[in-house]
Amino acid sequence: MNSQQHDIQPQAIHRVSHEIKRRKLEVIRVIDVTPRMRRVTLSGPQLEGFVSLGTDDHVKLIFAQTPEEQALLETFVPGALADGPRPAMRDYTPRRYDPKTGELDIDFVLHGEGPAATWAEQATAGQYLHIAGPRGSMIVPDIFDSYLLIGDETALPAIARRVESLPANRAALVVVEIEDSAEQQTFNSPAQVDVIWIVRSEQNLVDVVRKLEMPEGELYAWVATEAGLSRKVRRVLLNEFGLSEQQVKTSGYWRVEGAVD
Ligand SMILES: Cc1cc2nc3c(=O)[nH]c(=O)nc-3n(C[C@H](O)[C@H](O)[C@H](O)COP(=O)(O)OP(=O)(O)OC[C@H]3O[C@@H](n4cnc5c(N)ncnc54)[C@H](O)[C@@H]3O)c2cc1C
Repeated sequence: MNSQQHDIQPQAIHRVSHEIKRRKLEVIRVIDVTPRMRRVTLSGPQLEGFVSLGTDDHVKLIFAQTPEEQALLETFVPGALADGPRPAMRDYTPRRYDPKTGELDIDFVLHGEGPAATWAEQATAGQYLHIAGPRGSMIVPDIFDSYLLIGDETALPAIARRVESLPANRAALVVVEIEDSAEQQTFNSPAQVDVIWIVRSEQNLVDVVRKLEMPEGELYAWVATEAGLSRKVRRVLLNEFGLSEQQVKTSGYWRVEGAVD
């Protein structure tokens, strides 16, 4: 495994770094998990040694928009280019990696225009996709009694990985903002998992979070939605529920263009 274990006690949240490797992978399957979520399965010899230890790991997907960028794809080292043409890179969660079958699933929200979503719309078996990473994994050991997982469709791969990894004696409260009820997914978990689906045109995520009854015991809260919305949810968790900075991890998974908080 190309990872360096850091000398931090395993019983604390800690980060593990990985060697960043660029991989050219072949699309072997494309299915629609829901009308707005497309699963692309990637495979190939370069997947050898892939590692994803954290449930909210991300890889960079690399998309060439021009012939110049296309030419760069084979030699491109993420992070190393300064000026000149540069392929677009977008962050995605490895939804499932199976070293036995050599398959990696990436779930794409089909949100409309954008190098990643546009590519996913047309993806078919036999095409190639370049990926890089993960650069690191945040390891949350089994030291919490309960989990509060809040996100939108883009967070579903990470949320699904988290609940699937929980043991039977843990509880998870999952709150997911979706476009419509057809976007609901089923989670497989031995833990006790309660899910609240929020259709974004009908309910406000922040209002719903404000009224939540927090799961009991030592809690870990994880939030990933649009950047401005994630910040609002974070403020509610810290200021209104009194959670500590250490037990709340918040990320912006995408950004509304021109949005001001
Ligand atoms: C750590 C991490 C993990 C992520 N994992 C996943 C994942 O597994 N699956 C996944 O689908 N996404 C995931 N995302 C979110 C994804 O990276 C963004 O949605 C990204 O902007 C999509 O790139 P794009 O090229 O399609 O659109 P962009 O070129 O980035 O954006 C084009 C336009 O689309 C809008 N837009 C972007 N995303 C959305 C959206 N979800 N809904 C509505 N409008 C949007 C932007 O505001 C912009 O106006 C993750 C993000 C992070 C930071």
